[in-house]
Amino acid sequence: ISHEIRTPLNAIIGMSQIARRSADEPDKVRSSIDEVITASTHLLGLLNNVLDMSKIEADKFEISPEPFDFEKMLRRVREVIQVKADEKGQTLDFSCLGSFSHDMIADELRLSQVLINLLGNAVKFTPDGGTVSLAVRETPLGANTSTLHVAVRDNGIGISLGQQERLFKTFEQADGGITRKFGGTGLGLAISQKIVNLMGSVIRAESEPGIGSCFAFDVKVGWAEKIREDVPQGTPSDSLPNWEGKSLLLAEDIEINREIVTAMLEGTGLSIDNAQDGLEAVEMFREHGGRYDLILMDVQMPRMDGITATKQIRSSGVAGARGVPILAMTANAFKEDVRNCLGAGMNGHIAKPVDVDELMETLAHYLG
Ligand code: ADP
Repeated sequence: ISHEIRTPLNAIIGMSQIARRSADEPDKVRSSIDEVITASTHLLGLLNNVLDMSKIEADKFEISPEPFDFEKMLRRVREVIQVKADEKGQTLDFSCLGSFSHDMIADELRLSQVLINLLGNAVKFTPDGGTVSLAVRETPLGANTSTLHVAVRDNGIGISLGQQERLFKTFEQADGGITRKFGGTGLGLAISQKIVNLMGSVIRAESEPGIGSCFAFDVKVGWAEKIREDVPQGTPSDSLPNWEGKSLLLAEDIEINREIVTAMLEGTGLSIDNAQDGLEAVEMFREHGGRYDLILMDVQMPRMDGITATKQIRSSGVAGARGVPILAMTANAFKEDVRNCLGAGMNGHIAKPVDVDELMETLAHYLG
């Protein structure tokens, strides 16, 4: 796997150096930066897989079912996969969309991870112009539960019988040449299988070389009444929001992270005060309290972490202390971490690495 990690890192370092030397050639700068984004996104996916795998190996991998909007999740999954399918001129069939009017009780993050992995593989191992489809059906079991039948099909290169047996093993790829041709680590299916196992089922693979593959599983899920949408879905626009006169306290110990957030928010008129750790954030809040419209709070910081700082701000008695929105900004995006943040009195969280659109959308929700 060291080779797998070094390859995108080489691209990131190399392309950054090229961008730096090409200041007077804007096209070259832009294309190098596109490569940096692609390579680092790939690296992030890889690291997430390696971390998941080590959680699985340490027996710390858990599933936490909660109610969520299943249709919305399917649409998000489609968005992610559509980009890849478009690149290969493939048809993506999501005709299952539109048939789920109830919320589902399951582990949303993990279930979408499985779908994205299976669909991503289907796109990857299907030639240009092929077809990839997701079928989801449900059979009611009782009043509030049903079995969800999920199948991902493609008309791609397929997998030979001998190779099918090894598919779900860690680091296994159908044949050694595949990594060089298609990339990947051979971790995705092992992780997906583990997730589906924890949901009480197994992923079955059927495939014929040259014809295509189908990966399917059935899981028991709970159903809940639809939670009313109270966050209006802002249509993403290219024009920057105007937050002139609003003020943000950014508690973050790592300078480059402060720089990134500051640069992302440039042009919005938002004034940003920086605190270098939790203790400084609490002190600044005690001093200027009512001035802040929003606090972005890193969780892991020296001297005082974001959880403690949030609790101290909330109980400080300063004007606005109870009402000011506090959002965690953390790389610890596991469910239990999010729960800890909310438990400490935060309003929500933004995952790191920070995505500029997500940041804008979340801030828009709290700043108006
Ligand atoms: P990765 O895709 O990162 O190599 P996975 O665990 O997701 O790892 O997949 C393991 C291997 O299974 C792939 O390398 C490929 O050989 C094979 N495979 C998975 N899905 C498909 C598919 N839809 N069509 C053909 N081969 C597949």
